[in-house]
Amino acid sequence: MRIDLHTHTSVSDGTDAPAALVAKAARAGLSVVAITDHDTFDGWAAAYTAAASYGVTVLPGVEMSTTLGRAGVHLLAYLPDPDYIPLLTELDRIRADRSRRLPAIAQRLTALGRPLTVDDVLVAAGGATTLGRPHIADAMIAKGYVVDRREAFATWLAAGGPAYVPKYAPATPDAIALIRAAGGVPVLAHPWARGTDAVLNEERLAALAAVGLAGLEIDHADHDGDARRRLRGIAGDLDLIVIGSSDHHGAGKPGYDLGLCTTAPDEYERLVALAESNTKPASGESSRPSRRGAGSG
Ligand code: AMP
Ligand code: ZN
Ligand code: FE
Ligand code: FE
Repeated sequence: MRIDLHTHTSVSDGTDAPAALVAKAARAGLSVVAITDHDTFDGWAAAYTAAASYGVTVLPGVEMSTTLGRAGVHLLAYLPDPDYIPLLTELDRIRADRSRRLPAIAQRLTALGRPLTVDDVLVAAGGATTLGRPHIADAMIAKGYVVDRREAFATWLAAGGPAYVPKYAPATPDAIALIRAAGGVPVLAHPWARGTDAVLNEERLAALAAVGLAGLEIDHADHDGDARRRLRGIAGDLDLIVIGSSDHHGAGKPGYDLGLCTTAPDEYERLVALAESNTKPASGESSRPSRRGAGSG
């Protein structure tokens, strides 16, 4: 049973449509694939439909943008109630600010001698719900300014880069509380990737666990063996669920193939059981028919 709990579709900054991603997951031999687009649930419905024909279980999730101090921290959330208004409102707010910063980044690039319009970016984004810097990178590739997303980030778009503009995101503890209130399971994405090991030190991880963080994504391509070993020690001490995943973005991030890292079945079962226990039954009856993702398996 191969389980990949972190993937992106063309609804955010991945390059495969949700149904195509599920088909690819089946070809990669996955039994379970989580759809975790940035700040939106929009990929779920099409993924469920495909799941039924491919015999793959789709676990509904989201990768929520949050901030801890000045650092951007990505928070995965599994099985949140998609109708919980406070969470939907917060995701709307994040996406609205992503749209606000888009022209600001385009103006910076234009001023820096790389003319780019919002329309160029929207064409590159191809109707994505959540607009991100990878779409700006794609527009820059189309203009011939850079060869790939990696170069666009390294030269222009990364935090502190010449065209960087920050975006709104809620504080990580507030986002954890919101996901819990929505009946979801909050798991920190790639906690020690790209320099966030200084921010998410053991003390801060313990503080987040104390306010409801349920797990850590440890097996991830951006963590080396030493980071994984140390994070496993921390997860053991804090009794956190341990997940592994690809963080697949299709052609947008070469090398991060589906199933590259996977989650152990018992850790997946723990995660699903926690979501089920989060759902408060109203007068003896379950408030929702099923918290489980669609599909077989
Ligand atoms: P944003 O959502 O606008 O903050 O952009 C962040 C996203 O860009 C991350 O979720 C990654 O998927 C992607 N990203 C960050 N760094 C790179 C990179 N060096 N190459 C390709 N994609 C990247
Ligand atoms: Zn992404
Ligand atoms: Fe991420
Ligand atoms: Fe991701």
